[in-house]
Amino acid sequence: MKREEAKAKFMRGAEEMFEAMWEWGEEHPEASFDEIAGKLSQERRELMGEMLGEMLLQHGDGRYEEVECAECGQKTKSNGRRTRTVLHAEGQVEVKRTHRRCPQCGQGIFPPGPPSSVDRAT
Ligand SMILES: [Zn+2]
Repeated sequence: MKREEAKAKFMRGAEEMFEAMWEWGEEHPEASFDEIAGKLSQERRELMGEMLGEMLLQHGDGRYEEVECAECGQKTKSNGRRTRTVLHAEGQVEVKRTHRRCPQCGQGIFPPGPPSSVDRAT
């Protein structure tokens, strides 16, 4: 189900991108190669940013059972979420990861696996 939803969203996005490009082309009959390619790059980054987000969440949403401290083996406690803005040629995304901290030795850890959420960075 997740796959079908993500695919439908991507296909809608691709169609919107095509329409936006075509309309822009009609409004800019004198556009140079560089201007067209620049506009296409910007549109492509938005579409690929969406796809990148879906791919990052393909294998889960950051939920996990229990994480023990690598230093002393204590059960770690929630330490909120950390946001990281990732800028890539294929799009810019904001990735939120859960962070845990050991109450005994203070060691911090990002549990392995998918992030808890991914948003398009603006
Ligand atoms: Zn510890």
